[in-house]
Amino acid sequence: GRGFDPETVRRDFPVLHRTVNGHPLVWLDNGATTQKPRQVIEALAAFYASANSNIHRGAHTMAREATEAYEGSRAAVASFLGAPSPDSVVFVRGTTEAVNLVAQTWGRANLGAGDEILVPVLEHHSNIVPWQMIAKERHARVVPVPLGPDGQIDQNAFADLLSFRTQLVALSHASNVLGTVPPVREMTALAHRYGAKVLVDGAQAVAHFPVDVQALDADFYVFSGHKLFGPTGIGALYGKPEVLAGMRPWQGGGNMIDSVDFGRTTFAPVPHLLEAGTGNIAGAVGLRAAIDWLTSQDRTAVTAYEKALTEYAVQALAGVPGLELIGAAPERISVLTFTLAGYDPAAVAECLDRDGIAVRAGHHCAQPALRHYGLESAVRASFALYNTPREVDTLVASLQNMRQQ
Ligand code: PMP
Repeated sequence: GRGFDPETVRRDFPVLHRTVNGHPLVWLDNGATTQKPRQVIEALAAFYASANSNIHRGAHTMAREATEAYEGSRAAVASFLGAPSPDSVVFVRGTTEAVNLVAQTWGRANLGAGDEILVPVLEHHSNIVPWQMIAKERHARVVPVPLGPDGQIDQNAFADLLSFRTQLVALSHASNVLGTVPPVREMTALAHRYGAKVLVDGAQAVAHFPVDVQALDADFYVFSGHKLFGPTGIGALYGKPEVLAGMRPWQGGGNMIDSVDFGRTTFAPVPHLLEAGTGNIAGAVGLRAAIDWLTSQDRTAVTAYEKALTEYAVQALAGVPGLELIGAAPERISVLTFTLAGYDPAAVAECLDRDGIAVRAGHHCAQPALRHYGLESAVRASFALYNTPREVDTLVASLQNMRQQ
């Protein structure tokens, strides 16, 4: 490997050099969104400055160039995920839209009365609520898969809950609250024995470790560009070719049709079938730049660095009296959620903000996961490859200082 130096990558991120409330910014809210390297910012600016055009329709040079850029990004996403072909990638607004798309198309066509969707208690609301909505409509049921005390999915309970009623298992590749990385490949293999499909929410995974959707054997894999150093408003839905091929249209409009007539309308094949209207073309260009930027790093070294940084943070935070980390799964990404005895999480975040440290406080869109620990709110520090042990020290010093006031 080429190794990894966080100080080198920090130079690519202009925003990391600003101050907040008179202090150097310490960005520990990467679970909510990551910062953008200049390569992404420049790709967006260059598209609008010299290449802006709609795609797929105009018979002119710039329309062709924009089409090539958009389709080039699709190919880059496919290769980033280990997908068999660019046609198995649908551009969406983000993870939330991808899950809703699958619920509204695949779900509406495949769920019937008494069918079950298994959803771990860990999940983000965007991987719970769309299933509740379609389940209600189809008289199906969303069945929560319980957690063990360490925040890992209870594998015995999962095996017991699986049955021939199970149509879908929807689970995240990494939890945004506990950082837990479940054994997705094994769970998928088990689900497939019952003929169930598996949707993997990769929102928190893709920035932290390489993903191979074919090795996982996932039927669907979804993520958001903005948590992957890319722009907001663009993300991807991967579907197995044979699963996508059977999908019905979602939104209707331009780009998704073959021929429109008041008598009969015929549709374009996937992925275009599921991409009605003008997409986020610049966003796709920015997403490609983000993928190129991340994959130019030594990813094995990045994952090892993040693991070491997380271990360092766990040790350092243990020295803060009254601080309690939630969940302690051995397999986890660099997300640490905690409470501080005697302090409201919102007040902790506010205090840290005064020192230029950005963390999130609240339920993190995962209320069932927090309630598993009897909590309604907690503080979350989530790290990316550009965070440093020095920033961990700053966080710990700020927390210590707060307790002494
Ligand atoms: N799933 C997980 C695990 C997430 O962390 C998030 C974002 N916090 C989402 C889904 C939703 O992503 P988005 O808001 O980009 O659609």
